[in-house]
Amino acid sequence: MGVSLPRKELFDLPEGVIYLDGNSLGVLPKAVNARVAQTIQAEWGHELIRAWNTADWMGLPTKVANRIAALIGAPDGSVATGDTLSIKVFQAVAAGLDMRPDRKVILSDNGNFPTDLYMAQGLIDTKGQGHELRLADPEDVMEAITEEVAVVMLTEVDFRSGRKHDMVEVTKRAHEKGAVMIWDLAHSAGALELDLAGCNAEFAVGCSYKYLNGGPGAPAFIYVRPDLAESIQPALAGWLGHDAPFAMELGYRPAMATERMRVGTPPILQLAALDAALDAWDGVEMSDLRAASVHLCETFIKEVEARCPELELATPRDAAVRGSQVSFGFEHGYAAVQALIDRGVIGDFRAPNIMRFGFTPLYIDEADVIRAAEIIEDVIKNELWRDPKYQVRSRVT
Ligand SMILES: *Cc1c(COP(=O)(O)O)cnc(C)c1O
Repeated sequence: MGVSLPRKELFDLPEGVIYLDGNSLGVLPKAVNARVAQTIQAEWGHELIRAWNTADWMGLPTKVANRIAALIGAPDGSVATGDTLSIKVFQAVAAGLDMRPDRKVILSDNGNFPTDLYMAQGLIDTKGQGHELRLADPEDVMEAITEEVAVVMLTEVDFRSGRKHDMVEVTKRAHEKGAVMIWDLAHSAGALELDLAGCNAEFAVGCSYKYLNGGPGAPAFIYVRPDLAESIQPALAGWLGHDAPFAMELGYRPAMATERMRVGTPPILQLAALDAALDAWDGVEMSDLRAASVHLCETFIKEVEARCPELELATPRDAAVRGSQVSFGFEHGYAAVQALIDRGVIGDFRAPNIMRFGFTPLYIDEADVIRAAEIIEDVIKNELWRDPKYQVRSRVT
């Protein structure tokens, strides 16, 4: 048995807020404050450059990577941290294409997060070798994996709809057709029970500021299947992916480990924040987390549908094919989300009409879900969203 959920006492939840946006930016764990203060004052402030050794800043990217590996079903040493998810997508796709030099197609789906597609297209343009980014509807991905495909690049959980791909089945199909499989776990890590090693995909990537609560701009991660770690070609060959960074050699020699996917100097303040944030997972059984997430999502769907027939469920009803979020389509979704935020229910809006609510069992419970549904009912039934102040779009929605 793992610890019981939620663990609200570990989080700095603002008074009067029901936070249903941990799928976009996780809540601040209380342990982060003291840890970052220590890293700034005692380590940076006092130790200065010595802290790379004395405070083991040099070991921090790997320490954090192994903690993330444990949460996604990957073995020690198979994950590297750093940079942003966009960069890690680029590296994974580049390595995947190198593994299939005779094929020219990168396959993804049209539900994927735009930056993944932009990075793939940018890589194609940079290479200038006639590669093609091909997009299928999510339901048609299996058939679209043909022997032309070099790399299948998919996000397990769709950021808009919450629809979830079957990692085992899709990876199996990719391998049957000779393609390399890359999973983006941005909406999976810390949200689902994952068996990354078991699905046998070559690569996976993800970010740590969503369900892992690492804070805005927290470093991304990349998983490389252990049998490939010493042979894949790292795109973006930076000195900290070198076998011996401080030998300062003129030529690049990749580290004989997943660490070759590192690029430059690690973001120590962000890594310290993430390391402290990951303490909230100590003792959590991912199967318990998933069970709690399914319960929260199902309760929310039931409560909102009973109260607001105007909202149209835009998420699969079957929990088996859904991540840890629930989306509703509503013509005035943007304004409605602003009205909700004003009343303490923080969700977000994704164009064109999606009201999105994320469920994070570490700090959300059933009472929060029911209270949120009551407030949503108030906003929709009484058309509170019509207030002109809710119509003006901010830069970040
Ligand atoms: C959140 C998210 C990103 C964000 O990428 P960054 O480089 O961290 O800004 C990328 N891909 C997916 C699938 C995401 O959900």
